[in-house]
Formats: sequence, structure tokens, C-alpha cells
Amino acid sequence: MHQNMDIATRLIRIRGRIHELAAPRAVGLIAVSKRQPVAAIEQAYQAGLRHFGENRLQELIDKAPRLPADIEWHFVGRLQRNKVRPAVQLADWIHSVDSLDLLRRIDRIAGQEQRRPRVLLQVNVSGEESKGGVAPADCLELAQAAVECPNLICVGLMTMAPYQADESELRRIFGGLRRLRETLSESLPDSGLSELSMGMSNDYETAISEGATLVRIGTAVFGSRL
Ligand SMILES: *Cc1c(COP(=O)(O)O)cnc(C)c1O
Repeated sequence: MHQNMDIATRLIRIRGRIHELAAPRAVGLIAVSKRQPVAAIEQAYQAGLRHFGENRLQELIDKAPRLPADIEWHFVGRLQRNKVRPAVQLADWIHSVDSLDLLRRIDRIAGQEQRRPRVLLQVNVSGEESKGGVAPADCLELAQAAVECPNLICVGLMTMAPYQADESELRRIFGGLRRLRETLSESLPDSGLSELSMGMSNDYETAISEGATLVRIGTAVFGSRL
């Protein structure tokens, strides 16, 4: 009961903040539920959330069947080649496509599974070596290939900022992703790359002010992870 209050109350505050920063635009909230129990996801669902994110496939496999079918699952973690089939079966959105090989594999398996996931191309704007993502210079080639894939819908770009980045670095990274999308849209006018998935608990406010259309928020919704 107490936890219930907490998640519902946190959600009211976060939604209010998103609305303040984004208006008149709308920004989608993805609750990143990794390492949170099913009961916590149920509470967020009861508070009206329908978009949840996981970064490990095994967790998605364990949780998705125990939760309402109208949840849209976002896979936000690094996707191994041998996990593409379950990812395509379970995830409605895949935020972490960063190579031609992975893209083509998702497209092929989605065709076999009669699924049509939305995908985002993950871009390594920060240049941090530990982060996944395609280099900005290679993004056009990947986007070109993505719009030609018949069994997926490429909806936009995703990035992550370093955890300790200061405000000016955050603006450089998030603004960089927005400018990259503008460049791609000029080269690929019919590509429909409208989404910018950027911003987590500690940096979503900056991400929204730099044009995020989707924020991926974990601990600020659910509290600390198990
Ligand atoms: C964990 C995670 C998030 C959410 O992180 P918080 O700091 O808990 O908000 C967002 N995006 C990705 C890719 C993640 O792995």
C-alpha cells in the first residue's frame, strides 16, 4: 500500500514536470522497470502507464506474460544476435539498433514472426567507449537501410549520456542527436524519423528542453532497483 502511494505520487510529479517542460509538445514516458518486481509494474500500470522498458531479455521473458497484454514493451538494452527472436516476439519497440547486421536480422526475424517492431537507431553521440551505438558519421547509412526494411518501422534515434555529464555536455549530446535527426530527415525526406529517445531519471529535464520526444525513466518512477 505504501509503495503504491509512492509510485503513484512520483508519477504525478514526473508527469507534471514533463508537461511543464514540453508544452505544447507531448513527450512520451517510458517507465524503465528493469530490476523492479512485477508488483511495482502493476502499480505503475494502475496509475495509467502503458509503456515499460527492460534492458535484459531474460527479464522481459519472465515479466511480460505475467502483466496485462496492452502494455507496450520497449527493449532498451544491448541486443545480442542470438536473442533477436525473443526480442521481436515480445518487444513492440527496440531502442538499441546500432549495426546493419542487427538491423537486417531483426527485419528478417520479424518477417518470420509476422511482427513489425518499431525500432530506433542508437547513436553514440558522447563518444564514450563503453556505450553502444553507431557513430554519428555512420548513421545515415544505417538509417537508409532501416527505411528499406519491410518488416520494421524505423521511428527515430536514441542516445544515452554519460552518468556524470554536466549540463553543458548534456546539451551537446542531446542537441547533437536532435541535429543529427534533422540532417537525416533532409537526406531521407520520407523516412519519418520523428522520435528522439533521450533522457533518464537524472537528465530528462535537459533532454526535453533539447527536444526529446520519449524519455526513459527508471528510478525516479520506481525508486531504487533490487
Ligand atoms: C536503466 C536505463 C534507463 C533508466 O535509468 P534511470 O537512471 O533509472 O532512470 C534508461 N535507459 C536505459 C537504456 C537504461 O538502461
